[in-house]
Amino acid sequence: MGLNKKSVDDINVAGKRVLCRCDFNVPLIDGQITDENRLVAALPTIKKLVADGGKVILCSHLGKPKGEPKPELSLAPVAKRLSELLGQDVKFAADNNVVGENARKAVEEMKDGEVILLENTRYRAEETKNGEAFSKDLASICDVFVNDAFGTAHRAHCSNVGVAGLVDTAVVGYLMQKEIDFLGKAVEEPERPFVAILGGAKVADKLNVINNLLEKCDTLIIGGGMAYTFAKAQGYEIGKSLCDDSKLDYCKEMMEKAKEKGKKLLLPVDSVVISEFPNPIDAAVETEVVDIDKIPADKEACDIGPKTAEMFANEVKSAKTVVWNGPMGVFENPTLAKGTLSVAQALADTDATTIIGGGDSAAAVNQMGFGDKMSHISTGGGASLEFLEGKDLPGVAAANDK
Ligand code: AMP
Repeated sequence: MGLNKKSVDDINVAGKRVLCRCDFNVPLIDGQITDENRLVAALPTIKKLVADGGKVILCSHLGKPKGEPKPELSLAPVAKRLSELLGQDVKFAADNNVVGENARKAVEEMKDGEVILLENTRYRAEETKNGEAFSKDLASICDVFVNDAFGTAHRAHCSNVGVAGLVDTAVVGYLMQKEIDFLGKAVEEPERPFVAILGGAKVADKLNVINNLLEKCDTLIIGGGMAYTFAKAQGYEIGKSLCDDSKLDYCKEMMEKAKEKGKKLLLPVDSVVISEFPNPIDAAVETEVVDIDKIPADKEACDIGPKTAEMFANEVKSAKTVVWNGPMGVFENPTLAKGTLSVAQALADTDATTIIGGGDSAAAVNQMGFGDKMSHISTGGGASLEFLEGKDLPGVAAANDK
C-alpha cells in the first residue's frame, strides 16, 4: 500500500519559502541532546529542499511548554546541532511568539538555499488546539508546506494540520513517506508469515491495536505487563502483577477471536517474578523464574521467563515480517531486561523485514546496540500505534493527494 500523497519529489521549491514541519522532539539534559536519531532522520528532506534552492524554514515542537515560553524547552540547541549534521548554518529565529517580529525579519532576510529554525511551536497556546491565529501566522511566512513529522502525525495541530489547509501546496517529506510505506506495507501486504509482537505496561493502551492486528497478522505475540491481564483471563493466579480487571472480558474475546480466525496467539508460559518493585527502577533486585500457572500470590511478574523468550524467538525465526511495539518486561532494570533483549536479538538475527514501532521498543533496540540491524525503526511511538490500529493520521491526511 503506497502513500497516495504528494511528496517533496513532486515539487520544486526553487526560490520559494518552504515551511517544513519536522519532529525535533529530542531528549535534552542540561541543553545537551542525548538521542539525535530524530535529527538525523530529518536530514534527507532538508537536504532536498536546500538542493532545490528553497528558503527552508524549519519548525517543530519540543516537550510540553504548555503554551508559554520555557527557556529550557527552546529549540536553540537543536539549531546548533543541526548545523553540524547538515554541514551548513541553521540560523535560529529566536522568538517567543514563534512567528513574531524577529522570525518574520529572519525569513525576509533569507537567501535561496538557506535554512532557519523557528522557536518551539508549543510556545503558542493555539498550537495543540489547532487554533486559527497561529495556523495563519505560519501560513503567512511560507509559499509551500512540507510535513515530515511522523511523530506528531496522529495529532491535528496548527503546525501540521492547520497550516496545511491554508497553503496551496502541502506535501509530505521523505521521512513521513518512509514511515508510512514501511508500516503500511507490513500491515496491508506483508510477506508472510507476519508476526506482530506487543508488549508494554497496559492492555488498555493497545486494545484497538490487538483487535486490528489479529485481522492482519499470522501470529500475535503478547508479552510485557499487558500479558498478565490475559493470564488472569486464562484463569491463572497473577499475584501482584499488572492487571486491568475491567479488560478481562476483552482479553477472553481476543483469545476467542484468534481461535476463530485460525491465528496463533502466543502468551507467556513462564515469568520472572520479584517481591518488591525496584526503587529506583534500575536498583538491584532478587528474581525467581516460575511457570505461568505458579506465580505466587505475593509476587509480581516483571519479565518473560526463558522458556517464553525461546518460544518467542523461535516464532520470529520463521517469520518474513515482524512488527514490534512495547518491551517484554521492566527493561529499564538490567536484571529485568533479558526478555526484551532476547526479542531484540531474535529480530537482529533474522533476514525478515523488521519494524520497530517507536517509543520504548525503539529506545531498547538502540540502547542494546541493534539499531542498524532493523529494517526500520519508527520515529513515532504514538503515531505508529495509531497507524497499527488502522486509524487515519490527520497529519498525513492534510497533505495534497497525488
Ligand atoms: P508502554 O508505554 O505501554 O509501552 O510501556 C512501557 C513500560 O512498560 C516500561 O516502562 C516497562 O518498564 C513497563 N513494563 C513492561 N513490562 C512490565 C511488567 N511485566 N510489569 C510492570 N511494568 C512493565
